[in-house]
Amino acid sequence: MHVSEILKRDKTLFSFEFFPPKTEKGWEALTNRLSDFEALEPSFVSVTYGAGGSTRTKTHDLVCYLASKTTLDPIPHLTCIGHTRQEIDAILQEYTDVGIDNILALRGDMPIEGCCDGDYTYAADLIDAIHACKGASFGIGVAGFPEGHPETPNRLTQLDHLKAKVDRGVDWICTQLFFDNNAFFDWCEQCELAGINTPIIAGIMPITTLAGMRRMAELAGGANFPATLQRRLYRFQDDLESVRKVGVSWAAQQCAELLDRDVRGIHFYTMNQSSATEEIYQSLGAPSGSQLRGTH
Ligand code: FAD
Repeated sequence: MHVSEILKRDKTLFSFEFFPPKTEKGWEALTNRLSDFEALEPSFVSVTYGAGGSTRTKTHDLVCYLASKTTLDPIPHLTCIGHTRQEIDAILQEYTDVGIDNILALRGDMPIEGCCDGDYTYAADLIDAIHACKGASFGIGVAGFPEGHPETPNRLTQLDHLKAKVDRGVDWICTQLFFDNNAFFDWCEQCELAGINTPIIAGIMPITTLAGMRRMAELAGGANFPATLQRRLYRFQDDLESVRKVGVSWAAQQCAELLDRDVRGIHFYTMNQSSATEEIYQSLGAPSGSQLRGTH
């Protein structure tokens, strides 16, 4: 379903992010878990896209599997860095052919060394390519960074760049993960001041291990880990189950507050695991996913 229709249907959007497993075992584990995700009745799910040709097909395969074999509504991520126009057009055509309605349009991370061949510099260029795609009218999502993007330390300039993306015509903004709701609420206000009125979906990722927290800090450069959260986690250094409980409970409290403040949506970075998201739903007292989403 086109995301503009989903936004009309659901008062609060819930989405789950998956990555395409690299191995047969990973694929089997995810597909066995899909019924658990279906039971939570998300508004849609999204599938990440990594650099390199092989992942391109894996994203497409998972998106097609979800669309044809489950009740989940999949939205592919697409990154443009390193791609030629012909490659992007071919990918968009493939999604048009299988009836995909929406795309999360991203630039992708710059390679650590050297420059990148390809026809695209920023996500904004990809948005134009998606709009120009013949025979389709994709709903378009973009990334937003409540705690800043490492490449643009000037936060006002960064808002200008987000505004430039939005002005090209996008339907929703999905944020980078964050642990400090105040930073998110403040950034939403800054977006409003900058004239950005696109629905914003808050990115939430429960910490389940201390090593995982370190990886998140690396991947989501700039994300702040509040002292209170760190203190609660470090209390249980070697006790894996307690660390997980603290991380999931923090994320659940974030979600409860976001819902109290009428957030337009919550996007769970699931890492292909359903249990943390299920626990968060339970803690929100949700009798069913659709009731949690609400209607207008
Ligand atoms: P852009 O909007 O192009 O911005 C990139 C940087 O360039 C920013 O610092 C911005 O301020 C700056 N900029 C933009 N326009 C200009 C301009 N005109 N002049 C100068 N500077 C400019 N990565 C993947 O590889 N695969 C995924 O599936 C994936 N999914 C993601 C999902 C979400 C929800 C989020 C938040 C991130 C995801 N990423 C993914 C990571 C993302 O690709 C990187 O964070 C990337 O560095 C930024 O992408 P962007 O789309 O925000 O880029």
